[in-house]
Amino acid sequence: MKITSIEAMVLSVGEVDTSRADGTQDAFLVRIHTDEGLVGVGEGDTSPYVAREIVNMPSSHSIARGLAEVLIGEDPRRVRPLWDKLFLASYHYGRDGAALHAMSAIDMALWDLLGKIAGLSVAQLMGGEESHDIEIYASEVMPETPDEVAEIATRVVNEGFGALKLGWGPLGRDVGRDVELASAARSVLGPDRKLMIDGGMAYSLRAARDFCQRSESLNLFWFEEPFEGDDFRSYAKLCDDVGVRIACGEAHSNTAPFRQLVDAGVSILQPDLGRCGGFTIGRDIAAMVREYSASAVVIPHCFSTDVLLAATLQFVATLPGERLIEFPVTSSKRAGTLLSKEFTPDHGVLHLPDGPGLGITLNDDEVERRRVGKQH
Ligand SMILES: [Mg+2]
Repeated sequence: MKITSIEAMVLSVGEVDTSRADGTQDAFLVRIHTDEGLVGVGEGDTSPYVAREIVNMPSSHSIARGLAEVLIGEDPRRVRPLWDKLFLASYHYGRDGAALHAMSAIDMALWDLLGKIAGLSVAQLMGGEESHDIEIYASEVMPETPDEVAEIATRVVNEGFGALKLGWGPLGRDVGRDVELASAARSVLGPDRKLMIDGGMAYSLRAARDFCQRSESLNLFWFEEPFEGDDFRSYAKLCDDVGVRIACGEAHSNTAPFRQLVDAGVSILQPDLGRCGGFTIGRDIAAMVREYSASAVVIPHCFSTDVLLAATLQFVATLPGERLIEFPVTSSKRAGTLLSKEFTPDHGVLHLPDGPGLGITLNDDEVERRRVGKQH
């Protein structure tokens, strides 16, 4: 079997609001076609325009290559060797960032293909699922006022969610205000539902400590990414000083930074399968955490389309211990699904789909409707 072409697609739901930290406003998908007619689908969470160019561009030299050129003619079943080949082929401009995001989409599509060839789900290919039913948490951008927080919390409680994460927006400007916003969510959620706050990299070390201390009575399930992901020193200091579990990792690619986060004491590791390097690297990260830390867990980041959600579901189903999946409930998500069959939460739980690979089928009409500039 050979790869015959790669479609790198930019999708958009319309006008982008750059004041919102809402990555669901556009998307980057790839479709990998083969000479036997099977097609694999994957998503990278990135700047879709840059990633499309990384796939489609002509090569400059041996380690600055366009990714499609590298893949065409290859056997798609050689997933790991192809990952390594792409890493070296993009070494000069890659190793992190958009190149790894584009590779993540490709890796996801190759695992989807492998599943379709084998007649197995990706979870089965990775060694088998621990569970078919995964608890989800509603995820939304933090609004400006406690009243708006209460509205969102009321909506997610009515929709049957048992957990809510709010992040970015106004957080980090005023710790007192941040505690008020989080308190408004806790009041509606009651004591038993999970509440997480995502600091959106907007805190100083002092402000993060202050927030953790002043929100202690809110019993946060975790406090996420108060600092930039590479500020390992601040993470280590914060983890030493506060009781709440600290979460980080959505911005990172490859395994090394996750090891550094574990060393810093971060207990919730959040690789995004559309950024870290796909299933191939997600699996490496999970293996590292399993071997290296008794207290850290992998709870992936997932804030984009239902393609990434499907991939994350396959991955989370294979993880030991605490299993939780992020489910964006932001306004652009309500524009509808890209899939022929939508994921519908069932009392705060998502069920692993039955089909092979990612277990999904794209709704081609919807993909074409959202597609921007049909380069191929
Ligand atoms: Mg986050």
